[in-house]
Amino acid sequence: MNITSLAGAGQLPATLASRLDMQGPRYTSYPTADRFSEDFAESDYRLALQQRAQAAHLGVAAPLSLYVHIPFCESVCYYCACNKVVTRQHGRAVAYLEALEREIALHQEILGPAQAVTQLHFGGGTPTFLCDEELQGLMDTLRRSFRLLPEAELSIEVDPRTVDRARLERLAALGFNRLSLGVQDFDPAVQAAVHRIQPHALVAQLMQSAREIGFASINIDLIYGLPRQTPASFARTLEQVAELRPDRIALYAYAHLPQRFPPQRRIVPAELPAAEDRLQMIQQAIGAFLSQGYTYIGMDHFALADDALARAKQQGQLHRNFQGYSTQADCDLIGLGVSAIGRVGACYSQNAKSLDAYDAALRQRHLPVARGLALTPDDLLRRELIMALMCQGEVCFASIEAHHAIEFRDYFRRELERLQPLQDLGLVHVRPDAVVVSATGWFFVRAIAMVFDRHLQSDHHRERFSRIF
Ligand code: SF4
Repeated sequence: MNITSLAGAGQLPATLASRLDMQGPRYTSYPTADRFSEDFAESDYRLALQQRAQAAHLGVAAPLSLYVHIPFCESVCYYCACNKVVTRQHGRAVAYLEALEREIALHQEILGPAQAVTQLHFGGGTPTFLCDEELQGLMDTLRRSFRLLPEAELSIEVDPRTVDRARLERLAALGFNRLSLGVQDFDPAVQAAVHRIQPHALVAQLMQSAREIGFASINIDLIYGLPRQTPASFARTLEQVAELRPDRIALYAYAHLPQRFPPQRRIVPAELPAAEDRLQMIQQAIGAFLSQGYTYIGMDHFALADDALARAKQQGQLHRNFQGYSTQADCDLIGLGVSAIGRVGACYSQNAKSLDAYDAALRQRHLPVARGLALTPDDLLRRELIMALMCQGEVCFASIEAHHAIEFRDYFRRELERLQPLQDLGLVHVRPDAVVVSATGWFFVRAIAMVFDRHLQSDHHRERFSRIF
């Protein structure tokens, strides 16, 4: 069997997928968030912000991205693994927005006069849990404290059940230019099994409105491996998605971890699809998307050829951050809100995960940092390498050697040996000057990156990570 030609035809080789269906990180960061430590304190984060302020003063700061976490949801989806608060009491947002305002003000005190922002993302939870006036107030605060550049990418996650055309128009008026719609599956039986009812007609109407309003790039999230999903039902969902023709598609594998995520305890295990069916569904999806003109960006992301993400991949300009693949060059990321994760300089930091702890810290004028990590030179080196693999599918030895003063083959002697089995399968080529992921290897890029993850290689407990397929 010629593996590469299969990939070229848009197929995922079943034997390889079964063999390499291991658990592993998604590498939205390196080191991964499970390595964050409570030893990393508010003072460490403040120092990183101060260093950024100095760099900005000298005009040499990295571009800046903001993430704002809105944790509230009106009802729970049973597959959910997010940090959220389920409530129908919209008044709870008031105190939260006050806390967010305090957090933004503290950042402004340290960072100084409005820093230029190239990217802003509202995630959750359900950001559209906030009413129009609350969203307006929050955007006003952000615009007073940071300088959102006119060309900035402003994106928001939208629960289709919480918006109509008028709300989309308000979002556009606030400056949002990208939408991400949570769909997951259109089959009524699946929607009932996961407690998320949103008919196809509702999403189609919203998509049409969003296009007419002028949103530049619309993403749809799908999940395979949900209860009551079958290859036949998922094929119908894929046809309905094709009718909508979103600019981007994120296709995630459902990871059933009820011990970690209590809402998942309401999912009936006997209704989950078998491993062969899951594999068939991912194969169906990849085949459908590629035949419909989508570019495979990597891992779980697809984009139409004229979308900025597909162009970035073609030009070797793809990047990766906590929201997944991005067109934004390596940014500092300030995470605002409960449980939000940021990356400033050579540090990662995460805010308190409970609303009470988050609010209490801010009332005492403390940044609500709960844990984080200061990266070592080895972490920085491996981060560059792993992100190059995940985004460009290639690691050029000379580039890494120039940035980190190492001899690549010597430094990574053991890793290059460990790559051999993947090389034998045709997933990766080790050339004299570079490691290059093959066309089929793109489907397994996490497994390739894991070889270079020093923390993971010394850790035999990987159950906390999701499966590759
Ligand atoms: S999946 Fe999204 S909308 Fe559903 S409960 Fe989780 S965070 Fe809320």
